[in-house]
Amino acid sequence: MAKNLTSRATDYSKWYNELVIQADLAENSGVRGCMVIKPYGFAIWERMQAELDRMFKETGHQNAYFPLFIPKSYFSKEASHVDGFAKECAVVTHYRLKNDEDGGGIVVDPDARLEEELIVRPTSETIIWDTYRKWIQSYRDLPILVNQWANVVRWEMRTRLFLRTAEFLWQEGHTAHATEAEAIAEAEQMINVYADFVENFMAVPVIKGLKTESERFAGALETYCIEALMQDGKALQAGTSHFLGQNFAKAFDVKFADRDGKLDHVWATSWGVSTRLMGALIMTHSDDNGLVLPPNLAPDQVVIVPIYRNDEQFDAVSEVANKIQSELRAKGLRVKFDKRDTHKPGWKFNEYELKGVPVRIAIGPKDVENGTVEIARRDTLSKEIVQVTDSADHISGLMEEIQTNLYQKAVDARTELTTEVETYDEFKEVLEKKGGFILAHWDGTAETEEQVKNETKATIRCIPMEGDTSPGNCMVTGRPSARKVLFAKAY
Ligand code: AMP
Repeated sequence: MAKNLTSRATDYSKWYNELVIQADLAENSGVRGCMVIKPYGFAIWERMQAELDRMFKETGHQNAYFPLFIPKSYFSKEASHVDGFAKECAVVTHYRLKNDEDGGGIVVDPDARLEEELIVRPTSETIIWDTYRKWIQSYRDLPILVNQWANVVRWEMRTRLFLRTAEFLWQEGHTAHATEAEAIAEAEQMINVYADFVENFMAVPVIKGLKTESERFAGALETYCIEALMQDGKALQAGTSHFLGQNFAKAFDVKFADRDGKLDHVWATSWGVSTRLMGALIMTHSDDNGLVLPPNLAPDQVVIVPIYRNDEQFDAVSEVANKIQSELRAKGLRVKFDKRDTHKPGWKFNEYELKGVPVRIAIGPKDVENGTVEIARRDTLSKEIVQVTDSADHISGLMEEIQTNLYQKAVDARTELTTEVETYDEFKEVLEKKGGFILAHWDGTAETEEQVKNETKATIRCIPMEGDTSPGNCMVTGRPSARKVLFAKAY
């Protein structure tokens, strides 16, 4: 058992915070709302980056890098965009410090005021579209399919490790197209790439859908999203892909000549996932003993712990361990043989359980005698004795089994926590007693959406792109509804 880890049933939120710290993923820093991502947490993020980066490249994208700072004037060119981000911008006003002549230490030099203030990017559409104007003249320059891995700053008031931080790491794709249809296809392709990654690597099931107008990205004509459900019945927006129409091309005067020489504004998309995905991963699978990682993302998929009393035993155990390690590595698995003599086996067992390593192998002198090893699964906490000769095949099979099991468990938990309702009373009751995803009819107006939000704190997570599409009547107003939409309280 993990030491002092609050159980999920006692206090889910406390459990999450303690788990992030105890599993050595991240910690708070001296800067309000900004976290330190520790090596183990960063190793998981790097695995996410590697897979996503591969998927972006397979769909024709290239990486590039744009500045951290955006001149204030760029920012105000797209009216709805600036409105959406104005309240959470960090602004650079000066470029120099000096010693205070009155002995007050270091102060900002009032003579070093920037002529034009700079915004620390909360997202990069403006500076990228200012650049694209120089890159695009004709249809031959299109499409531009660019992604950037970067940090951004949004001055969030209520922050939580990974889920919502003032500075976060993300990728932002920014594409430019000759036609509306092509841009919409791109936005849809990328939400599908995200869903594929989150379901098949993170083992987190998601619902794909469209945001309502009031939840849309500032400056977008359509926001596609994937929504996941956490174990406590709260939703988490796991990724977004925006169809931006010609809004940014118009704001930054980006035109191209088509095949007939006719000038038109360029069509745009942008899409992003962030370190919030770490929060989704942790909250979906982990238990009261600590982190549970799906094999496809675990930095170490298998760890081998030797059990011995003297050098002779250590040598005998190591021989078996090294053999298994190389066999597993030959199968492409990430394996660690933890030979440290500074920690006892029991301590290591706890540590790897807390850190969510999918499979642990223990080998002691008895095992060497019998030609066996003990294999423990993190997802089910079950143990079995396996012949050394069978162990590599067995473990490589376990990787798939654990990945599938975690996904299926998450699907089952979500099914359990998804309810369809017809009336607003039923809606409120389910929300209060059970939480989770609630499918209900909505009349399509921002007023009704706002009323539900104010009265219940639940928001429309998305208008699902799949599932039951039968029309009905709004649970609040009784007016016609095109289809049921997905409500939940969200992180
Ligand atoms: P957006 O640009 O608002 O569509 O957000 C892009 C991605 O970043 C989405 O997947 C969001 O869930 C995520 N995100 C937005 N704000 C934060 C934040 N403060 N911390 C971490 N992730 C965030």
